[in-house]
Amino acid sequence: MKQASILLIYTGGTIGMMEDPITGGLSALDFGHLSDQMPELKRFNLTLHVAALEQPIDSSDVNLDSWIKIASIVEENESLYDGFVVLHGTDTMAYSASALSFMLENLKKPVIFTGSQLPIGKLRTDGKENLISAIEIAAARRDGRSVIQEVAVFFQSRLFRGNRVHKYNTENFDAFESPNFPALANVGIHIFYHHHLLYTNNAEAFRVHKKMCSDVGLLKIFPGMTPAFVESILGQTQLKGLVLETFGSGNGPQAAWFLDAIKDAIQSGMVILNVTQCNRGFVEQGRYSTSTGLAKAGVLGGADLTTEAALTKLMFVLGKELTPIEAQQMLLTPIRGELTTYSEL
Ligand code: ASP
Repeated sequence: MKQASILLIYTGGTIGMMEDPITGGLSALDFGHLSDQMPELKRFNLTLHVAALEQPIDSSDVNLDSWIKIASIVEENESLYDGFVVLHGTDTMAYSASALSFMLENLKKPVIFTGSQLPIGKLRTDGKENLISAIEIAAARRDGRSVIQEVAVFFQSRLFRGNRVHKYNTENFDAFESPNFPALANVGIHIFYHHHLLYTNNAEAFRVHKKMCSDVGLLKIFPGMTPAFVESILGQTQLKGLVLETFGSGNGPQAAWFLDAIKDAIQSGMVILNVTQCNRGFVEQGRYSTSTGLAKAGVLGGADLTTEAALTKLMFVLGKELTPIEAQQMLLTPIRGELTTYSEL
């Protein structure tokens, strides 16, 4: 059987740091000679190549350009490799995995994001296990096809759908959760894939979308917001889309000034998507009178989208030339498994 081939895409972050055993200082790992520095990798019966962003970055510096670069590397190498592992800082991994899930349409190969809480060069690092398991998952095949055919995040012992994750812990090795969707695989002595949850793509051709709209914003509401504050955000005429993080199942103040500001923004063309500040559950506009006004004003209910997925989906949808109705439909419909519809509940 042909050896599997995996491309590691190194973008930066803690996982790429080595520790000087004498001074304790951190420096970047030489990914060009990765298997010399991590001889364990030579035991894999597969071909492993490394591509890196020209300038590796802390993931707090990630932007739309970084996503376009990662998408382009996957696009250029899609036919050459069986799978891709993206090494990425943990801080914004949930945003990047969500963005890439939208940008890469009809993927038939795995794109597995991973990183670490401790540098790979530290004795107690979680990076080696994360990297090794991510590679194994990226190489897994069943019935002649890749087991994973979507963008996913592997961390510690679980594989999650990329657009469902959220970094919830700065301290634990178990740093990510997928609040509203089960893990795609659990990794212990064995790797158990939950096949009924996995994406299997149809025959349609793989496509990469690189046009994303950056004129989007995020407003987390809070008790005591002033009209001036809200107006300073909603009154920005260049803003095409806004994620509104609301209370509970999608609720907000009923004050006329607030609902009027929302209504005016929507009437001037802003798309507003409602997600909850709660960690679990979903937005259900109309359940309480405190969300009825939002629904009437034209705010779209974002169901159980994470903030990360909502924001990157807005960037994706508003980057296309769609009519307002088409954009609205695309936002409310799951296109890469990023949200649960009522009929699935
Ligand atoms: N600040 C780092 C980053 O996100 C943290 C990490 O890699 O985990 O790039």
